[in-house]
Amino acid sequence: MQNYDLIIRNGQIVTKDSIFQGEIAVKDGKIVEVSTNTISGNTKEEIDANGLHIMPGVIDTHVHFNEPGRDHWEGLETGSKSLAAGGATAFFDMPLNSTPPVINKKTLEAKSKLGEEKAIVNPYYWGGLVPQNINDLKDLHENGVIGFKAFMSPSGIEDFDNADDETLYKGMTEIASFGSILAVHAESTVICAQLQEEKIQAGKTSARDFVESRPIISEIEAVRRVISYAEATGCKLHVVHASSKKVTDLINDAKKRGVDASVETCAHYLSLTVKDLEEKGGLAKCAPPLRDQEEVDGLWDALANDEIDIIASDHSPAPKEMKTVTDNYFEGWGGISGAQSTLNVLLTEGYHKRNFPLEKIVQVTATNPAKRFGLEGKGALETGYDADIILVDLNETFELQEEDLFYRHQHSPYVGKTFKGNVKTTIVNGKTVFHHGEIINS
Ligand SMILES: [Zn+2]
Repeated sequence: MQNYDLIIRNGQIVTKDSIFQGEIAVKDGKIVEVSTNTISGNTKEEIDANGLHIMPGVIDTHVHFNEPGRDHWEGLETGSKSLAAGGATAFFDMPLNSTPPVINKKTLEAKSKLGEEKAIVNPYYWGGLVPQNINDLKDLHENGVIGFKAFMSPSGIEDFDNADDETLYKGMTEIASFGSILAVHAESTVICAQLQEEKIQAGKTSARDFVESRPIISEIEAVRRVISYAEATGCKLHVVHASSKKVTDLINDAKKRGVDASVETCAHYLSLTVKDLEEKGGLAKCAPPLRDQEEVDGLWDALANDEIDIIASDHSPAPKEMKTVTDNYFEGWGGISGAQSTLNVLLTEGYHKRNFPLEKIVQVTATNPAKRFGLEGKGALETGYDADIILVDLNETFELQEEDLFYRHQHSPYVGKTFKGNVKTTIVNGKTVFHHGEIINS
């Protein structure tokens, strides 16, 4: 007779390529059996998943928490609770929003120490690539960063400079030498700065003006340039938050030429438009900005064709007063609070509205992130994998309220939106951390 810690019974198990009725047994934080039959044995705990779908936890490759140093903004505890409530079991934290930013071993250690204390889901960290730290990159890699992040336009954080062409070229040469990966925020500094100045000079500061100051061509120009560096240096490349199929097409063309590249988009580019920016003000401000409906539809077409590797939240929150826009959309923090809602958006806008298969949702939220960034034992519901498991009710319908949010600052452009499909339980390394609307304290 086997002894287990947990058996999840009677659920619909969703993998990257199939859905079947089955059961999962967990011991010591690992999945030890997945079966279409009844699993027998002694177990400390049993969950009846009748009527629910069992999926691998979301791996959110793109969040901005602000610890250490910027403690009045989103933190590791509140941020990771929000992720758990949204069905994420791991996150990759961006390097720039802590003070100091993660650009050397010392600052990485300071952050990961806090992550160990405070995060309730699995934490991973990006290191920064900035003009000043080419000589620190290898050290960061050896100390466990998931990869590196560079901005091709100003980051909005004073002590995290954007990477000029020389930094990109030298940095990517260095990163390639030890086989790591560079993620880029790809917008053209030249185009955005000039257009912004023209708009402001002319007193044109509406939502539409802000969007027009950061056009898709600015992304296209930057992506083309960074792809050329990837080709020249052999550095693995990951383009974050592409806002248009015109951008994802470039990465797919590069892949066909043999460039080791991948592309991510975010839930907000799949569900919100310039109209939302006009209506919700700063809460929906981000960079690249929200686009029009045809771009949203284009991204869904790209997803249907397997042309987008990863969907992340780019959760980039700020205190609410910094998100208030009156009539000047060039003012106020750019960044959307969304970490809790990624799966809700994909189920509502994708699975229910566009027949986007659950298996593909698993691919872009779990399988592909684990594979691209080399997370062993993550991203699948298979024997020997870590028990990072979520239970989802596909048909639960609810209108998101501010008080549902676990963020430090309870705002999001999704507040007031009706979602269909919700996370009931989140299990991280075999332990239930979220159940029926509540965080479960260990
Ligand atoms: Zn970001």
